[in-house]
Amino acid sequence: MLICKKSSDLQNALVSAKEAGKKVGFVPTMGALHDGHISLIRAAKNFGCDFIVASVFVNPTQFNNAEDLEKYPRTLENDIFLLEQAGCNALFVPETSEMYPADEVPVTYDFGYLENILEGAFRPGHFKGVGIIVAKLLKIVAPDFLFMGEKDLQQCRVVANLLKQMGLPEELLVVCPTIREKDGLAMSSRNRRLSESGRSASLLISSVLFKLKENYGNQTISELLTYGKNELERGGMKVEYLEIVNYHTLLPISSSDEPADAVVAAWCDGVRLIDNLPLNG
Ligand code: AMP
Repeated sequence: MLICKKSSDLQNALVSAKEAGKKVGFVPTMGALHDGHISLIRAAKNFGCDFIVASVFVNPTQFNNAEDLEKYPRTLENDIFLLEQAGCNALFVPETSEMYPADEVPVTYDFGYLENILEGAFRPGHFKGVGIIVAKLLKIVAPDFLFMGEKDLQQCRVVANLLKQMGLPEELLVVCPTIREKDGLAMSSRNRRLSESGRSASLLISSVLFKLKENYGNQTISELLTYGKNELERGGMKVEYLEIVNYHTLLPISSSDEPADAVVAAWCDGVRLIDNLPLNG
């Protein structure tokens, strides 16, 4: 696997790959890789991509909390091992100065309501930062396909909107299913910060989502949400939001015909976890 710190080196390799007729798949990440990330590499292969680029970059502009940025796990050696094993062709691992030159004012995008609801309401500026970095990465890699996880559904919607604003085809984005631990917990780089007791408590997040799916259609939205919030709080969690929204727009649903998705963010054992689950799909 080629490892590049400089975008120019990556672009040279990409020119050769594209000249050889390779289809380029791109998987952007912040590292501390787990099987959820690696599933995106596998998805890219299954999609017919024969030159797969992953990036590992902990993007400072998408952190609204300095402590969260500092505590974000960094495990580059293991990341390289996992990507090589998965058959990734190139890894882009830039320094912050490569992505944010001191003299540059980064281009920002406006995602309207999408950047202010749910995650955006609790992490002001987060999606602006996501937009800045994904746009920069897309300009460098210019992939045929971009693979992202449904685990971060709102991020997928923001990136779909970004593609439109950049004049890129919406088919570029391939949204891949959430990979879970055997007991249901959605895999996340943040899970490694959980203590043993926090790890057991965290199970409640996915079990509540599965319960909502089981009871969806038999109870009102308000009953479902009251049940869910109470369960999470009883388990010692601080719930930031638990909502049932339209899978595509992420706005509250107004009819049971709409594709519904339960979205949640909660603090467990000092770690902020998010998850979501389609309820009727
Ligand atoms: P991150 O490193 O957290 O920024 O995530 C990089 C990419 O991996 C994003 O597209 C995430 O949605 C995706 N991802 C993270 N966790 C999972 C998971 N458990 N299953 C599938 N994709 C995931």
